[in-house]
Parts: sequence; C-alpha cells; structure tokens
Amino acid sequence: MDKRSNDLRPNVEFTSASPEVTGSCIHCHIDYPNNTYTNFAVDCGSFQEKEHDKLNYQFNFEPKDLSFLLVTHAHIDHIGRIPFLVKKGFTGPIYCTNDTKLIMDFSLKNAVHIVKSNAGKKGYEPLFVSEDVAKAMLQVHGVHNDSFLKVDDHIRVYFCTNGHLIGSATILVQIFYEDCQPINIIFGGDYNDRNMFFDVPKLPEDIRKLPVTIFTEATYGYMNSDEVEYCFEDNLVQFYKKHPNGIVVIPTFALRTHEIVKTVSSMQRCGLINPFTVYVDGKMSSTFNQMVASGAFESVPHDNINFLPRKFKYLRKEIRANRYTSTSPQIIIASSGTGSYGPIVNYLQNMFNREDVLFHFTGYPVPGTIARRLYDAEDEAYVHIAGLCVQKKATVKFTSQFSAHAKRDQIMNFLMGFENPVFVIVTHGNQNPKAIIAEEALNKLNVPNVGILSDKVRFRVGCNGLIEASSTEYNSTL
Ligand SMILES: [Zn+2]
Repeated sequence: MDKRSNDLRPNVEFTSASPEVTGSCIHCHIDYPNNTYTNFAVDCGSFQEKEHDKLNYQFNFEPKDLSFLLVTHAHIDHIGRIPFLVKKGFTGPIYCTNDTKLIMDFSLKNAVHIVKSNAGKKGYEPLFVSEDVAKAMLQVHGVHNDSFLKVDDHIRVYFCTNGHLIGSATILVQIFYEDCQPINIIFGGDYNDRNMFFDVPKLPEDIRKLPVTIFTEATYGYMNSDEVEYCFEDNLVQFYKKHPNGIVVIPTFALRTHEIVKTVSSMQRCGLINPFTVYVDGKMSSTFNQMVASGAFESVPHDNINFLPRKFKYLRKEIRANRYTSTSPQIIIASSGTGSYGPIVNYLQNMFNREDVLFHFTGYPVPGTIARRLYDAEDEAYVHIAGLCVQKKATVKFTSQFSAHAKRDQIMNFLMGFENPVFVIVTHGNQNPKAIIAEEALNKLNVPNVGILSDKVRFRVGCNGLIEASSTEYNSTL
C-alpha cells in the first residue's frame, strides 16, 4: 500500500460509493507514519433507489482488507449489505450496540426473501442467502451504549445514545499514535435528539470539547422541525366523527410500528377515540413490536414498555381476510409503509373501495410510489394496485410526523453542540439538502472547512481536520 504523506502524523481517507440517500457505507483508510495502515468501514447499507440498484453488487474497496466494521443503526440502508460484505470475504468483527444487534438479526433474516424476489425479477443472483446472514451474525459483537471499546492498539470507539431508532448510536472514533494529537471523528448515524421510547442525553461534554471531524446526514435538510404537520391524531378524530364504525388502516414501516401503536393507544387512553381493537399485521412489524413490549431492548426503560392498547391483537395471514368485510370500528397497522409490499397490499386491494375506510400513511408519499398514486387519485377514480383495478372510495391521508430523521434546525443544533469542530462532512441526502446543510454549517459554525462526501469526492483528514479533498477519479488513477 502506498503511503500518501510524509507527515509524521497519521491521517485518514474517507470514501463513499453513495451518490444520494441510501447505501450508507463510509470507507476509512488510516495511514500511520510507520508505513502501516488500517481499513475500516462505517455502515454497509443497501441502495434502495431503483437507478442505483446495480451498485448493490459492488464495493469501492476490497472487503477482505477491512479490519472491522462499525454499525450506527439497523435501518436497511445502513445494514442491508453486511451479509454480502461477508460473502465477499470480510472476516473481521462487526461492532454495534446490543440493541442494534438484536434488530439486525431479524431484519437481515427477513431481508433474505425480499433480496431473493427482487433479484429473481431482474434475473440477477440474490445478493445473499440465509447462510450468509447466519455467517455475518457470528461476526457481530454487541456493546453497551455510552461505553468505550478498544478496537486495536491505536483505535477506540464510543457509542453515544442516538434517538433515531432503538439501538442507534452516534459513534466517536479516536485514532491514537505515539505522542501525536489523536484524530477524533464523529459518525452522526442519522442523529436525532429525541425518541418516543427513551430519553436522549446530550453527547458527553468531554466529547463535545474535542477537536473533531463530524459526519452529518442531511436527508431533511430542506425543512425545519416546525414545518412538520402533526395531523395524525386530528385526522383520526375527524374520520371517526364522520364514520363512527369506520376502519383506519395504517401502512407502516416495521421498525416504526411501536410508535404508531403507542400513539393510537395514547389516543384511546385519553378518550380522543374509542377503545376498539387495534391489530398489527406483518411478520417483521409484529416481531419488532413484541420485542419492544416485552422489554427486550436495553435502551428502552421498563417504565416505557406498557404501551399496548387494551384490546390489541397480532394478525395472522390466515385470518386477515376477515378484516376486509368487517363492519366493526377498528385500527389495523400493517407493513409496509410505502404500500408497495407486505400485507398492506392486500388491505389496499380489498378495502380501497370502501367509503368507511381511512388509509393513513405514516411517511411522506414520494412521487412515483404507489402511496403517491393513491393519494393523488380523484375520488371514485380507478387505480391499479398490484395488478388489480380498484375504485377509490376510501380516504387517503399522510403525515411526516413519525419521521425519525432530524430536520435542518435539529441537525444544526447537533453540529453546534461541538465546541471545536475542525471539519464537517455532509453525507446521506439528496443534492439540495446536502448543499443547504453544508452552507448553513459554514455560515453558523466556527469551522474552517465543510465538505460533501459522495461517490465523486474523497477527503483526507488529520487531527486538525481537512488535509486534502480530491475526486475519486483522480485518486483511482494513482
Ligand atoms: Zn436510519
């Protein structure tokens, strides 16, 4: 391996293969002054945008050269390619919090059939199979939140509590070398300062005082938190005023199920809606919700696990059809949140033609998705739902209030919490929000450099921040 600096201090080079929002995986190459080096990566997620699908089958580094992998959280765009990384030769340890390890295990097992069916449709080989998941999970080491872990003689990491998802962490990596100043790097991991199920403490003061290079995401960099419309509760109340015996069907992402269940349960407990039965449908949604409610996660205090509605049931596939024609008021929470796969497809096909049904999406309906088509369709219009032509009689609403991503003001608060940032690197987001966060960071923080990491740009940093920014094309010819 060539040594790229004559400096007597170590430096780290960051590269990413991700052009946009998904496929989170930051490759880090540390050069030490004694001509040794270490490679590691932070997250290894799937690319979910259709146009980037082929990127799932390649890495911009050699998997067997990685010494270890750090995982910030268990969303599939951060973990979805870990089994493929292992299949391609990565044999090192994978470090994450204990809660992330639990979620990763069932998420990746659940992903096997999705990966298989996606690949089958396109005539590709599946990215991985069950055996690859089992092998990868043997390499995973769970750690407690808010504790240091010595990875090797030069590197230690600290997993700070992050509100984005149960188990998620903002990770501090410190690189030590002889009597040099350490290099401190914060990987934000979709940092969010709040969570419905546990308190998110401020990052420890001694970490916030460090001279630090900070990675931040920018997914919702285009909006402030006060622009989020909190309309879910009101929409349900209004619907039941009009249709006292109506049915509310809530498409949800599996790892968001517990938050919807808790919200509905709270509405029932305080009398906003009647205490009729609440159902959860979907294998992964049910598993995750059961885990939260049974106290399986160490980051969720036991005071917060008593959130289920009084009348509450998990639905099995065999009895799902009974719901389609039911005339009793009830709430059905079913995966997936996009409406494009999972049991929610069956509910849409069979209940979209009922006037007494409200489909309430729990995420923004992105243009081009089925959720958007259903939302935009005129009343009484015919819409295609997974091969069926159905007349729209149901009401369709959506809210972004359950989104776990920090908005612009929260991202800036996170960054401004550091007293001595030496370099801010924006990653994970479309071009526009990344540019907005980069500009605001330059204007509001006392930081010498702000960069946007992408598949086109790489950065080399030392203890005082940026050493060199270069295009990947330029470096690949070296
Ligand atoms: Zn995430």
